Amino acid sequence: MKFSDIIGNRTVAEAMVSMADSGRVAHAVLLYENEGSGALALALAYLQYLNCANPSGGDSCGQCPSCRQMEKLIHPDVHFVFPVNKGPKTSDDKPTSESYVKYWRELALADPYFTEADLQKAIGIESKNGLIAVAEAKSIITKLSLAPVYDGYKAVIFYLPEKMNQETANRLLKMVEEPPQKTLFLFITHAPEKVLQTIFSRCQSIRVMPLTKEEQRLVQERRPMVEDEEGNMFLDLFADLMNAIVAKDLMTALECGEAMAALDSREKQKAFCNFAASCIRKIFMLQQNLPQIADVGEEDYGFYADMAAKCPKEFCVKQIANIDKVVSMIDRNVSSKIVFCDLVNRMFMNI
Ligand SMILES: [Zn+2]
Repeated sequence: MKFSDIIGNRTVAEAMVSMADSGRVAHAVLLYENEGSGALALALAYLQYLNCANPSGGDSCGQCPSCRQMEKLIHPDVHFVFPVNKGPKTSDDKPTSESYVKYWRELALADPYFTEADLQKAIGIESKNGLIAVAEAKSIITKLSLAPVYDGYKAVIFYLPEKMNQETANRLLKMVEEPPQKTLFLFITHAPEKVLQTIFSRCQSIRVMPLTKEEQRLVQERRPMVEDEEGNMFLDLFADLMNAIVAKDLMTALECGEAMAALDSREKQKAFCNFAASCIRKIFMLQQNLPQIADVGEEDYGFYADMAAKCPKEFCVKQIANIDKVVSMIDRNVSSKIVFCDLVNRMFMNI
């Protein structure tokens, strides 16, 4: 990412360029943004500029080996840390950012203005809290202890340090205080008041300004329209199931259960469960008269509103608990046919 590709925040970009040009590069910087304002894009452009072999006119060249690797987010000296949790897209029991870095790259390359919710979706942990746990600190310390591949700066882009617990911060603190030579930490936060003081106090803070309406429109325009095939398939299946349940059509509902059991991997079955739980939460939010946080798109609104009207109030809470049980049984290798058939029966009894 070049500075010239960034929408908005010219002043911040210029400040970064002059910091790099002056040679007084702060080793820990905290970029504070309202979500979606481009802090990640700025951090990427800054590192690309710092490590570029032929910078000119206040921007990186985009052509040298370092720039080319930065543009693909595969620069060997630049690492990414972001909140994670266990999920269907990794088999790691104690996942770190490394477990999901492939999905991070895909997301950030397609749209560096992504939101935290986009990230959670991309790594398949929509229904969980992302955390930066101590395993992450260990992994980063190891990576930063290695000699750099290039002659430039080693760096960690640390997305949402507010999701880091005390133990992780304690582990990292010494490295943030006294990093190895030419090593940078770039923290990107949406909630600076929640960043642990021990980390916060060691950073140079930079405010990334919210985008104007016009700038937001430009970001939106650039955003890729990805046809989410799996999401569409999941929604069709979920809608068929719910329509059968509210119509008290047990045969059709059981057929949907068979279709869920036939999803071709346990990971996919669990991903469907997470998807279904998020849909049920939307129905629940509409029942609570909270459409603003239900996050229902215009085209699906009719379906969700219909379900909210037809399902009893306690239905949603019970089903979220039932779906959690399904996920843990899939994890324990219980036959998926039995598990999903049982889920359908329970839903049917609760309607
Ligand atoms: Zn370059």
